Amino acid sequence: MDGDMGRDIDIDKEQQHPLPQMVLVVEDHPLQRRVLVRTLESLGVPRVVEAEDGAQALAMLAEDALIDMVFTDLDMPTMDGLALMRLIGQLAPGVGVVVLSSAERELLQAVEWLAREQRLDLIAVIEKPASRSALEAALRQPPRRLPDRAPGLPALSVSDIAAGIAAGQFEAFVQPKFGFVDGKLKGGEALARWRHPERGIVLPAAFIQTVETSPLIELFSLSILQSAAWAVRWLEASWLPGRIAINASSTWLDQPSMAERLMETVERLQLPVARLCIEVTESVANSNLAVGLENLARLRMAGFTLSVDDFGTGFSSLKRLVSSPFKELKLDRSFIHGATPDSARWLVVESTITLAKKLGLETVAEGVETEAEWLLLKGAGCDAWQGYYTAKPMGEADFMHWAKQHPEMMSATADAEWFNSDPK
Ligand code: C2E
Ligand code: CA
Ligand code: CA
Repeated sequence: MDGDMGRDIDIDKEQQHPLPQMVLVVEDHPLQRRVLVRTLESLGVPRVVEAEDGAQALAMLAEDALIDMVFTDLDMPTMDGLALMRLIGQLAPGVGVVVLSSAERELLQAVEWLAREQRLDLIAVIEKPASRSALEAALRQPPRRLPDRAPGLPALSVSDIAAGIAAGQFEAFVQPKFGFVDGKLKGGEALARWRHPERGIVLPAAFIQTVETSPLIELFSLSILQSAAWAVRWLEASWLPGRIAINASSTWLDQPSMAERLMETVERLQLPVARLCIEVTESVANSNLAVGLENLARLRMAGFTLSVDDFGTGFSSLKRLVSSPFKELKLDRSFIHGATPDSARWLVVESTITLAKKLGLETVAEGVETEAEWLLLKGAGCDAWQGYYTAKPMGEADFMHWAKQHPEMMSATADAEWFNSDPK
């Protein structure tokens, strides 16, 4: 009897679609992940691999073309299942996706709708806890033939970047900033570098636009902040004045969760908010001004210093400048480098410094390369400078070495203030 039943099932299975050869399980909860992996293995999937978040999953998909199905949770930290689905649709459109979630029905319907929009091969949406039979049905589902996709983002680059983030290859170099009042260090700016295993140190020009226009921007920005934590801690521990600036693109700023996610990360890293500055770059015309303004207001309330980056270039709007709680204005290097007293660009610099003073904003000139430029800026009443003339962006070890070599540029002001405020 038992044997007959077994044969029945076997015959039945032969008529079904064959099992996928390699399945990726994406689940942040370790126990749930293990149970799911075991169940899929026991259902006969030859290879089951696992990832604990979206970034890791994308890196694995980029590396292993044999993965033909992904089982993903919806609610995960850093990159949720929705963002992951969208990226899979762009990067690996042939891969079937099964979503597992305890989320309510409306949300699961939204997932199905999103998948259609993204032309993603969504095989099933399964409610948690997933039953063995629901998993087996999903595994046996034949793949759909997808309509031709419109050309999307440069696929390879986004997945390369995702893999780079997952492998911890992105790091912050820090370029020191100095005050014109005393010529001393006044914090610095964190600038992203990709320590690429084959290409060496890759500059932002090669990847930043792709990152900023992809859903990776939040994860990327937070990883740069994390990588710059040493500089914040060093300033604090050395009683030096100033802040470390992090670049925030408007594509990130305009996301509703931006301020919250940034504050969470700052808290997790236990960094003093007063030591952080957010430079808002406006490399793309911003589409969601209201959300951006709300994020800026929340960050200001939380104690961050806000800076308008690249002022003077196309997209940096006066509207945003006057309607937001900015404290600092950065003059773009395209106006600084090569400026001479009678040049048009110098006129822009001078009038911007005047405008900033009237608005009560501090001015920082970036890209100062020569003594002549430095003297002009000092004469015009600029507050601070940054540039190859004094120091380049440096990794932690080089930065520490540089700081040791230049004790004369390290201010004792904060120290003195602290001691003087001691009431004894
Ligand atoms: P930015 O924010 O305007 O940063 C200043 C750029 O000027 C940096 O280029 C810096 O290395 C460079 N620089 C500094 N001093 C000099 C100088 O004296 N001469 C010249 N020619 N250049 C100088 P970098 O590091 O290549 O970054 C380029 C841009 O990429 C940045 O421009 C910023 O918009 C973007 N970026 C860098 N890191 C991040 C990041 O973590 N997040 C975001 N969203 N954007 C970033
Ligand atoms: Ca900047
Ligand atoms: Ca700039």
